[in-house]
Amino acid sequence: MPSLAPVNGLSVDVEDWFQVGAFETVINRENWESLRTRVERNCDAILAMFADAGVHGTFFTLGWVAERHPGLIRRIVDQGHEIASHGWDHARVFRMDRATFANDLAISRKAIEDAAGVAVTGYRAPSFSIDARTPWAHQELAAQGYAYSSSVAPVAHDHYGWREAPRFAFHPLAGSDFVEIPVTTALFAGRRLAAGGGGFFRVLPYAFSRWAIRQVNREGRPAVFYFHPWEIDPEQPRVEDAPLRSRFRHYTNLDVMADKLRQLIGEFAWGRMDALAAIEARAASRLAA
Ligand SMILES: [Zn+2]
Repeated sequence: MPSLAPVNGLSVDVEDWFQVGAFETVINRENWESLRTRVERNCDAILAMFADAGVHGTFFTLGWVAERHPGLIRRIVDQGHEIASHGWDHARVFRMDRATFANDLAISRKAIEDAAGVAVTGYRAPSFSIDARTPWAHQELAAQGYAYSSSVAPVAHDHYGWREAPRFAFHPLAGSDFVEIPVTTALFAGRRLAAGGGGFFRVLPYAFSRWAIRQVNREGRPAVFYFHPWEIDPEQPRVEDAPLRSRFRHYTNLDVMADKLRQLIGEFAWGRMDALAAIEARAASRLAA
């Protein structure tokens, strides 16, 4: 890539294999404590991968995880990465009211900051669940002092998406510098395709993500990429009674994910989301009131 290509946002959504939205109908929230945790070993593998490549990124972490794994949170911070919030226990924002969301933000931030010893200024909604149904969500984030959110998927998808939202950074609130940085989409035949990572990156050929990020960078904008610790873990316990489509999405290509990530990290320029937010805030559009 030419050296003038934008630095893209590298992010990890820190949750364990049993906390994903795809399994919420078959794994009871009350049983989480009894399940075998894999998040710490998987995050340590990711930290080693990032260190080998000399890149830094942002770890959007559940408060539930931070409370139980404070040593992991400190290692993330000590190695120069940004620690940010992914909410308390992966409840989707559009299933809360504003007061519930305010409490979810406050308790998760406290758990993360207590473990990290540094301030949290970034937030990613579980399952990109800020959309047209939650006009109060960005207001609440700004009111609690967050600088940015990366919580919108500006596409139509079966589980999430705010298809009318801007593709790139925008200021959702009048008179506020608070910025939302949507996850990356690429344009194909006039349609937006989700291209920011997760299952799409893992299931589709690497060439799709390369094409999408190159397209976004040619538009002069950074890509926002995300993945999960369980995605590099072929040995995680199998949830046999989950719906077939959920199992397909969750288990395909776990064994090749780490190599794909190394290729991606080596091919493009990457950095933390807070740094990207500061740059993108200057280029951000304003949502019409
Ligand atoms: Zn998540």
